[in-house]
Amino acid sequence: ATHFKIDGLKAAIEGKEILKGIDLEIKGGEVHAIMGPNGTGKSTLASALMGHPKYEVTEGEVTLDGEALLEMGVDERARAGLFLAMQYPSEIPGVTNSDFLRSAINARREEGKEISLIKFIRQMEGKMKELEMNPEFAHRYLNEGFSGGEKKRNEILQMMMLEPKVVVLDEIDSGLDIDALRIVANGVNAMRSEERGFLIITHYQRLLNYIKPDFVHVMMQGRIVKSGGPELAERLENEGYDWVKEELGIVD
Ligand code: ADP
Ligand code: MG
Ligand code: MG
Repeated sequence: ATHFKIDGLKAAIEGKEILKGIDLEIKGGEVHAIMGPNGTGKSTLASALMGHPKYEVTEGEVTLDGEALLEMGVDERARAGLFLAMQYPSEIPGVTNSDFLRSAINARREEGKEISLIKFIRQMEGKMKELEMNPEFAHRYLNEGFSGGEKKRNEILQMMMLEPKVVVLDEIDSGLDIDALRIVANGVNAMRSEERGFLIITHYQRLLNYIKPDFVHVMMQGRIVKSGGPELAERLENEGYDWVKEELGIVD
């Protein structure tokens, strides 16, 4: 079964320590949410997991099914089964969405076992329909000129096509109207399985009304300071973050 483990992860940006020791364990079948005020390091965690060159991991270990992830390059991490939807997906002019997806899928397969074009197109069209995406998006350049909501849907399309073991979604809800939010959440929920773990990073509780987490973690100042069940998200929605700070004696 899938087992993703973050152990004492510290990371810095331009010499400034942002992540001050993150411990988190996600098993197949589980959905974890990380909530927290702006600027606490949530996106830094996502970027460090992805292997973004700007984020220097200074301490700690991350393993996926026992394999050391931090020693891997970005592509290798993806091949190992890690998928990240970033808060700000990048545009890749000159590469169409469908070309990008097909090479990403094939990069994760053995030579000679590439997905056939027919099968790929059939799958992609099916998933795009589920996500209520305009079929023309298959042939558009990756994310170029996509609206915020279209980019988010496209990230979910990639996730559905790649069938990763561990999914990290960074503010997948930002910039989505309520209909798009429902569609994106349905896509995520359809991918929930015993084989797959999720880490949902969000500033707002709203998303968690649609994707029910098993565990909720609060992140502040580069640390997970509190963990609980879905009721924790509801309390944060109702009361904000001040009570957590008071409880823990955090001054900012
Ligand atoms: P969150 O996602 O929780 O809002 P971030 O991880 O984006 O927080 O940011 C954490 C801290 O790191 C903030 O103080 C932010 O200004 C800083 N930071 C994030 N990315 C960069 C970057 N690329 N260069 C410099 N500072 C950064
Ligand atoms: Mg932010
Ligand atoms: Mg962020």
